Parts: sequence; C-alpha cells; structure tokens
Amino acid sequence: MTAPERARCAIDASAEAPEENLPGADGRDEAFMREALALAAQAAAAGEVPVGAVVVRDGEVIGRGCNRPISTHDPTAHAEIVALRDAAQHVRNYRLAGCDIYVTLEPCAMCVGAILHARIARVVFGADDPKTGACGSVVDLLGMSRLNHHATATRGVLATASARLLQQFFAERRRPLE
Ligand code: ZN
Repeated sequence: MTAPERARCAIDASAEAPEENLPGADGRDEAFMREALALAAQAAAAGEVPVGAVVVRDGEVIGRGCNRPISTHDPTAHAEIVALRDAAQHVRNYRLAGCDIYVTLEPCAMCVGAILHARIARVVFGADDPKTGACGSVVDLLGMSRLNHHATATRGVLATASARLLQQFFAERRRPLE
C-alpha cells in the first residue's frame, strides 16, 4: 500500500486487534481476519463504523481498507470497496482473480456486487449483518446461480471479536453527554 493510501485510514496501522480463539477456524483465516480487525479498530478511532477488510493473494495481503464513508463524503467507501481498489491498484488490474477478501462484517449488496465484478474467489467474513448482509442474512447474492460469476463464502471467522467492536462503538455513541 502506498503512503497516500495508508493515510486514507487516518490512524496508525499498528492498532491491536482483540484476541479470540474460535474452535475449528482455520489458523490462516484467523491471521488475515486479525489484520482486518486492526483496520476496523482504525475506523472506530476515526469515528467511522468499525469494519475492516484485506484482500489476499497467494498468502500475501495486497489490499487494505477500513470503513470511511463519513470522512470521505462517499457512500461507497465501505471497507471492502476501499480494499478492492487498493488491491487493484497494487496489481494494476481491475480483475482480482484468485484473490480472497477478508472482512470483519458480512458484506452488503453493493460490496458483494463489487466482489463479483472483481472476480474474487472467496469471501471470508466475521460477524453476520442481519440488517444489510448479502451473504445469506438478508439476501444471498453469492448463492444466486443466475449470476455470471460466483465466489465461495466462509462465515463466522473471529465473529465475536468483530461484533464486539461494533457493539462497543455503538454503545459509546449512544452514551449521553456528561
Ligand atoms: Zn458494503
């Protein structure tokens, strides 16, 4: 990631992700999800809803994104979109065939659309999103056989840590001013 792209996330990239052990989860998936969680924590510190995402190719992170629609005045600036753009710039190709995306929260319809356009092979996400989740919670765009491209999904990786970040963020915002 270049310096300007890193600056988009506003906060130092060394933030620690919460620790969690999820029985049965693949260790590699957990490691990449921890990187996404660190980006989600950066989003929270910047006053954005804490969601983070990384794009991985051949075991290497090639794109990073944290949620930042408020600070950028951009309704499309979800973590997944930011990470896909970062990865596509990195490989100089709008197709990201063979890449996986790790995101702390179930992607919405817009992000699944972008993921399919990018030809991502696999989507790994943490917490379910019962309000806008498009990987089975509200709709299942990944499972629609009529679409021209398909990606597999792995859900629930470090889901508790992902959900906890979101719960803490919204609890603090709801707290009355003292
Ligand atoms: Zn989205």
